[in-house]
Amino acid sequence: MELVLVHLFPDLLNLYGDRGNLIALRERARRRGIRVTVRQVRLEEPLPRDGDLFLVGGGEDRQQTLVAQALRGSTGQLRSAAQSGAVVFAVCGGYQLLGHAYRTAEGQELSGVGLLDVVTEHPGHNTRRLVGDVVATCTVPGVGELVGFENHGGRTRLGPGARPLATVRVGFGNNGEDGTEGAWCGTVFGTYLHGPVLPKNPRFADYLLRLALRRRYGDVHLQSLDDRAEEAAHAAAAARARVPR
Ligand code: GLN
Repeated sequence: MELVLVHLFPDLLNLYGDRGNLIALRERARRRGIRVTVRQVRLEEPLPRDGDLFLVGGGEDRQQTLVAQALRGSTGQLRSAAQSGAVVFAVCGGYQLLGHAYRTAEGQELSGVGLLDVVTEHPGHNTRRLVGDVVATCTVPGVGELVGFENHGGRTRLGPGARPLATVRVGFGNNGEDGTEGAWCGTVFGTYLHGPVLPKNPRFADYLLRLALRRRYGDVHLQSLDDRAEEAAHAAAAARARVPR
């Protein structure tokens, strides 16, 4: 089996180790004997047509402003990739841009690609950022508990076309009010969790891998891996999150 991972704007969107998500997916696939190709897409470069899984990291308002237009230019291609079963996975600033729109701290309106039915507004520099460790229960079947770290000013609200990726047990999540974290719809996922999130949440990483393999190979069985280090990292992050702030 083979898998093409596409990393969008790796030089601009890579907060808090988000590149680790790519490494986790690549290594978990390779350890199962899957041949992995990684394609990096920078500004002005076209999106490859053979991507099975597209990754978008987090970035602050300045980087988001730089990539928003390029991302919008790829909307049609990203949408048809997702419709054909490719996975799109975005973190924080990237997640905000997968939605309909993001209003920055300065009040600038950035149109998103609209792959997720969410809208984000940053209430301005004088409002509290939503920062800290997160423990959440994932709504994706079989994934269970997610742990990660969030740091965002934007408040995201979900429309009826998006499901929360998780419900927050510790932390703020999408907006600090409705108890939701992230969003998903079909094969498109957005989360506020950095850390990076996938190394510490191997069941979620494997869910995304299986989903990405499905469009070429149908339902595949992924052999289990020795995840003792990943589970220990997960447990340590969960324990730290539960220490009162
Ligand atoms: N600029 C966005 C915000 O503060 C995203 C930040 C991030 O990607 N960590 O809401």
